[in-house]
This record gives sequence, C-alpha cells and structure tokens, in this order.
Amino acid sequence: RILLTTVLNLQRESIKGIAITVQDITREVELNEAKSQFISNVSHELRTPLFNIKSFIETLHDYGEDLSIEQRQDFLKTVNHETDRLTRLVNDVLDLSKLESGRSYNFDGVDLAQAIEQTLRTYQLNAKDKGIELIQEVAPSLPLVMGNYDLLLQVLANLVGNALKFTKAGGKVALRAYQLDPKPHSQNQSPRVRVEVADTGIGIASEDQQAIFDRFFRVENRVHTLEGTGLGLSIVRNIVERHGSKVHLVSEVGIGTTFWFDLALCD
Ligand code: ADP
Repeated sequence: RILLTTVLNLQRESIKGIAITVQDITREVELNEAKSQFISNVSHELRTPLFNIKSFIETLHDYGEDLSIEQRQDFLKTVNHETDRLTRLVNDVLDLSKLESGRSYNFDGVDLAQAIEQTLRTYQLNAKDKGIELIQEVAPSLPLVMGNYDLLLQVLANLVGNALKFTKAGGKVALRAYQLDPKPHSQNQSPRVRVEVADTGIGIASEDQQAIFDRFFRVENRVHTLEGTGLGLSIVRNIVERHGSKVHLVSEVGIGTTFWFDLALCD
C-alpha cells in the first residue's frame, strides 16, 4: 500500500512546482492489522473462560441449595479449571507482548546441559503420571552457547510441555543437545549446538506445519480436548529468532514430531 503526499507550490496563483512523495506503508498497515487482530483474538479467548466462571458462580449462588454436594463440587472444579485456563492465557499474552515490545535481554554463556536437566526435573512427574518415558541425551562436555538462560528454559518448557501433551501413554519424549560438525565446504560457518525435542506422539499434518507457529492456531479437532492457548509456539519462535536462529520441525502423523534449532557457541 502506498501513501501519496502531494505538495503544491503556489505563487501568485500560478503553479511553480509539484512535489510528490511516494511512501510504501505496507509494513505499517500490516503491523497495525496484525495488532488489531491479536487484540480481538485475545479478547475473544479471555471472554470464554470469564463467561464460564461467571455462569457457574451465578448458578451456585442462585441454586446452590438445590444442588447435591457432588454437583457443587463439580461446579467448583470447573470454575477452578477455567481460572487456570485464564491464568495460562494471561501469562502467555504477557510473555509474548514483553518479547515483542523490543525490550533487550541479557545474553551470555548458557549451560544447555543445566537447562535441560532443570526442564527434565520440572516435567518428570507429569511424564510419569502420563506413562511417558522422558529422557535426555546430552553430549558430554557440551560447550556454552550464547543466549539468555530464562528464555531458553521457556523454549524447552513449551516444547516439552507440548510433546507430553500430544503423546500417548507408552510413548517417549527425548531432549537432545549436541555440537554440530562444521560444514565441510563453508569456511565461515561458526560452530553451533543443536537442540532437539522429539516425541513419538500424534504428529502434525504437513498442511499445518507452518501455521502452528501462528498465534492462537491449534490443530482443529484437538482444541477442545487438550489444554492450551495456541501461543506457546509463537513464543518459542520469537525467542529462538532473538537468538539469531530459526525453529524447524519434522513430523509425521501417527509417528511423532521433532522440533529443533541451532545456537551459536559463546566466545
Ligand atoms: P497450544 O497451547 O495449543 O499447545 P502451541 O502454540 O504450543 O499452542 O501449539 C499450537 C498447536 O500445534 C497445538 O495446539 C497442536 O495442535 C500443535 N502441536 C504443537 N506441538 C505438537 C506436538 N509435539 N505434537 C503434535 N502437535 C503439536
């Protein structure tokens, strides 16, 4: 889209000259449209749990005495569940907007082995409950990478959280990190470490593999059955891009999914 500015130079009613400025405002318009779309999506997503919480509380308030103890417990369970959903959504939206505000983060040497170990500790119980084997395969003496520890921890948490969510009992989730061999034909290829989160879950159809990184995108038929906000992978992509890298995935429906990205070593 183009913004045309015309400046007429009028002198004694005769036109001396015309200056025309042509400015491409496509990017600006697109950013504004994306922002409005985001606000409208967030409002919509917030409204659903709020509406549910209000209806259940109203029913408990107005008809609580006519309900059995079990029914009241069920209602309270739903209110609790919807409150958790609201909290997750608000946290994800805040994380994403903080990331997109352009604020700067401290980058220094990150011990990936430690970040992976910490992620494993956080999710081990959840994996055990679900009957999924959660393992780490970290190469010995892995060099430090250049990054922000907390942000990378958030990437690992989102990827492992998803892997566990979309893998059935008896499946496996692996967290891997290893140094890549330098490419033989490229002289200025700096050494990098590859991080992988692999699962033996339900997989992602090829037509959805790009869209899953979009905000609020969730593969259709799973939306109502599993928890989530549809923002996790947008956050992952944003953080990995801040590290000068890109998130990739390979996936096959019914076989599993592997997400991976490379990080530069710390000098
Ligand atoms: P959500 O909060 O829904 O998990 P994400 O942005 O993290 O949001 O993921 C978007 C969608 O991508 C998910 O709803 C799911 O459909 C799909 N997805 C993400 N990770 C996996 C995975 N490991 N296996 C299968 N599907 C996945």
